[in-house]
Amino acid sequence: MGIRRSRTASRRTLQGQHDAGAYRSLGDTDINGLVPLEGGYQVKGLRLTELYSSIQGEGPRMGAVTSFVRFGGCNMRCAGWPCDTPHAILPEIWKHDPIVPPDYIVKKIRDLPGKNVCITGGEPTLQPLEDLEKLGTQLLLEDYTVDVFSNGSLKPFPLWMLMEPSVCIIMDWKLAGSGENQTGMEVRIQNARALTSKDALKFVIVDDMDFESAMFIWKSLGELKCSIWAGVAWGRYSEADLIERIKAARVPWRMNIQLHKFIYPGVDKGI
Ligand code: SF4
Repeated sequence: MGIRRSRTASRRTLQGQHDAGAYRSLGDTDINGLVPLEGGYQVKGLRLTELYSSIQGEGPRMGAVTSFVRFGGCNMRCAGWPCDTPHAILPEIWKHDPIVPPDYIVKKIRDLPGKNVCITGGEPTLQPLEDLEKLGTQLLLEDYTVDVFSNGSLKPFPLWMLMEPSVCIIMDWKLAGSGENQTGMEVRIQNARALTSKDALKFVIVDDMDFESAMFIWKSLGELKCSIWAGVAWGRYSEADLIERIKAARVPWRMNIQLHKFIYPGVDKGI
């Protein structure tokens, strides 16, 4: 394919430069490394797992030079793929990552190229929401656009994410193939319906049954304002087959390509 290039293509990373913030023990956390709170869970502080520059491989800003801020902690365990960021979901790995304040992250981002920032994880809404808002607000003040990748199952998306035109929420709706299709269903329905035209709802497909489920869910959710995307679980379903399914179903969905995985084949981190 034309877009396949060398994995040695130039990219700049700040991995290994996590020099701010004291380590904290997981202490009073549960088995997933999460702190139980009334009405939900969160991790302790902004647990920065990765901060690096690459290109956005997914969603409406695909192709944009982007600073990736990956936070540790996830409420799901997608055994079906399996998850491609184990370092961000397993507390035995991310507990060694530093806790940093929002302005530390902003300062690091200023040194990187591009004006798009991707806030991701793990599940980023597990981070303290007030810190996440400070981070997002400062980035917006400095004219960055912000992508937020979330499974949307934990809590209602905060207003700044929903209302700010420069923030694109990409909500990943987990289907049966992920192994997590039942988690947080009520919140997911609420969040999907709250998305607006700047946002995206994304289905990741592992087989024909997942495609049929995605169709059913999409129809059941009623009229949505956001764009709808479908992509394959990497290596589990053919992109060409998925395109044929989308065409045959005559649905106004867009194909989500994990562009970074074509550009940097076999690279797990920092892309
Ligand atoms: S929700 Fe995302 S980060 Fe969490 S386990 Fe599933 S694929 Fe991994």
